[in-house]
Amino acid sequence: MAKDLWISDLQSGDMVEQEISIQGWVKRSRSSGKIIFLSLRDSTGSIQCVAKKDTLDEQKFADLKSALIESSLVITGTVKEDQRSGGNEISVSDVEIIGAVNPEAPFPITESAMAAADGGETEFLLDNRHLYLRTSRMTTMLKIRSSVFGAIHSYFRGLDFIEYQAPCFVAGAVEGGSTLFEVPYFGRKAYLTQSWQLYAEAAMPALERLYTIAPSFRAEKSRTRRHLTEFWHAEMEIAWAGNDDVMAHGEALVRHICATLLEERSAELESLGRDLEMIKRFAENPFPRIRYDEAVERLQALGVDIEWGDDLDYSKEKILTADFDLPHFLTHYPKVAKPFYHRPDPEDDKYVLCHDLLAPEGYGEIIGGGERTWSEQEILERIDEEGTSREAYEFYIDVRRYGGVPHGGFGLGVDRVIAWLAGAEHIREVIPFPRDSRRVTP
Ligand code: ATP
Ligand code: MG
Repeated sequence: MAKDLWISDLQSGDMVEQEISIQGWVKRSRSSGKIIFLSLRDSTGSIQCVAKKDTLDEQKFADLKSALIESSLVITGTVKEDQRSGGNEISVSDVEIIGAVNPEAPFPITESAMAAADGGETEFLLDNRHLYLRTSRMTTMLKIRSSVFGAIHSYFRGLDFIEYQAPCFVAGAVEGGSTLFEVPYFGRKAYLTQSWQLYAEAAMPALERLYTIAPSFRAEKSRTRRHLTEFWHAEMEIAWAGNDDVMAHGEALVRHICATLLEERSAELESLGRDLEMIKRFAENPFPRIRYDEAVERLQALGVDIEWGDDLDYSKEKILTADFDLPHFLTHYPKVAKPFYHRPDPEDDKYVLCHDLLAPEGYGEIIGGGERTWSEQEILERIDEEGTSREAYEFYIDVRRYGGVPHGGFGLGVDRVIAWLAGAEHIREVIPFPRDSRRVTP
């Protein structure tokens, strides 16, 4: 039963006139009395199969004719050149139905259900996510997703970063209490991690260059097009480094992801209507850097209601990035807008040494990072200034008592990067089982 031939293999000219057997699922099928045209799909694509009544066993012809969409089968036949499509097709000589579909409960993800969703998703498609995964749109997203994960690993491993894991149950917040998920923990309270960062900083003096790709959890109450409650977070931490060094890695990583997608997934990107030239531009050009103050001025000039000191939420990032032709870094946010671990700028401590990377076309933030407050004295000042309790961060403070060094890192939202590069309307479209405030099923 092991499969050693895929539908994509059958499209080559060398396969013409070969006798083959291939496993797959029925994508669609139509028949007149004497001939069946069936599109067979597998994970690599689809191919037309033609079965004629006069060359196929009578029972087999009847079986094939009644095979509903998503029935699994093994088709045997000869590969023929299909004059009209320019590709190949299979002239069927035998068929074996493996997993039949009950006619009383046909596959619910019909073409009309897909058309109603218009490229996006409806509650119906989300309820049937376990089946929706088989559609060509979702399969394409999952392949792009796999290449993005691979690119992140290859970027860091190529530079001798060590992959390092932090716990998911934690005691303290990284990104602020309002988005913490509380979990009962044997009579105490624990939280689900929002970021690997604090634990990575503890290992920084041991490993110096480290990274992870892991889920982070945030109780995002407002449902937006770019927030999930469980998302995949690629994070890095590096010793002996400042804000500019960290930014250089963020830029190089995003460019490497773009280059990898062009190499591995051009056909998939084109099938989604993405402009490959645009992605090439992202892969090949340095990303501009602007300071927070300049971004605020630009927004104010556009008539946006924003004051110095406000964080930039999505509505503002969207306006700011609508005309960008490249991702842009925004640096030097006001200290008041950022958590305690961001290092104040020694040149002007109203600001912190941080950066966000904003993706163009209105996608907005895909990376948040910066230099960390690394001396014991400075971290205690920042924690007290913020009114945070020292208790939950005791280990984090302790790390700074023994040979602290300048260091920094960033977090990249993997699902957001995929949504941007795939041109998805909504972050849900690029993750197999999306989690948001209303949905933990299926
Ligand atoms: P935002 O302001 O958009 O909520 P953030 O400032 O909370 O983002 P960070 O804490 O800097 O984000 O997290 C690092 C990266 O993780 C972000 O740049 C983003 O790409 C991603 N990210 C953060 N929250 C989410 C989420 N709820 N769903 C998906 N990705 C997220
Ligand atoms: Mg957030």
